[in-house]
Amino acid sequence: MMRRWGVGLLVGFWCLLAHGADFVVVVSVDGLGSVYLERLLAEGRLPQFKRLQVEGVSTLNARSDADVTVTLPNHTTMMTARPVRANGGHGWTSNVDPAPGATIHSNRGAYVTSVFDVVHDSGRRTGLWATKPKFSLFSVSYDSTNGAPDAVGEDHGRDKVDVFVREFSSPDLTRDFISCMSTQPCQFAFVHFNDGDATGHAQGWGSNTYNEAMVTIDGCVGQIMDLIDHHPRLKGKTTLIVTADHGGQRMNHQEADAPANYTIPFFVWGDGVVPGDLYTFNEGARSTPGTGRPGYEERPQPIRNGDAANLALRLLGLGPIPGSVINPDQDLRIAPAVR
Ligand SMILES: [Zn+2]
Repeated sequence: MMRRWGVGLLVGFWCLLAHGADFVVVVSVDGLGSVYLERLLAEGRLPQFKRLQVEGVSTLNARSDADVTVTLPNHTTMMTARPVRANGGHGWTSNVDPAPGATIHSNRGAYVTSVFDVVHDSGRRTGLWATKPKFSLFSVSYDSTNGAPDAVGEDHGRDKVDVFVREFSSPDLTRDFISCMSTQPCQFAFVHFNDGDATGHAQGWGSNTYNEAMVTIDGCVGQIMDLIDHHPRLKGKTTLIVTADHGGQRMNHQEADAPANYTIPFFVWGDGVVPGDLYTFNEGARSTPGTGRPGYEERPQPIRNGDAANLALRLLGLGPIPGSVINPDQDLRIAPAVR
């Protein structure tokens, strides 16, 4: 009897190590700078982000790409785990709607594998929900024409993004997302909320309208957490990652040397998470950059938004994105090291 229990425990422990979550949802809050988030948290205006902080593992001192603090390049970094311009970078520097037919690959002159490739090639379902038209870059780059043949060889097809939804409003997008995840859930889902960036450009980062937009997004994040808490297929099997592409100051976020532009949050909540501080759990593997902006050659690296893709893959029991540079060893911990 004791022996059976022991074997059961061992197998259980192995499963825990080898296979984390069945579902991973990555939420990117466009323009969410930590300095504004911290203030709103202190004022008690973001109860759902507070919950992420209390129940999750997180830091408010993560970094955007080391050279670029704009939306499309940083999202390409999040999808591919590559820098923008630095060594091994994906090379996508434009932040406007892509020209018809333009892809990340045509721009770089070589195929750039994404998180969608790895999840899809494993036979699982992927989805992208976005609130900016330029996110078509990802649906086009990984569609049935431009996506790579199945690397695993089982022919799950070239179209790596099974669901692509675009809405102008974050509440509408959230409704679509919840409806899809309730009926035909994606094992990997990426959700982009634009409101912070839009209001930041219009009225300024930290303005009343910006703050109100963040309160709206807090509600959207709360609905996603509620879904994960209660849906029978997702409950206890889903990990949520929440980060940002960049922050901002005054009316923009272009100056790459301004801490308010490159200092962003990184939260992980749900399955497999032990509440705590990400830098504490990752001592030796990641180090807090203070207010600085380390390049990719520095060791240890800071925690970056670009860590999300290979973390998501590890949680799904999958290897890293081929050719990736950020978190290629999939060593970002969301629980303390077992000693
Ligand atoms: Zn912007």
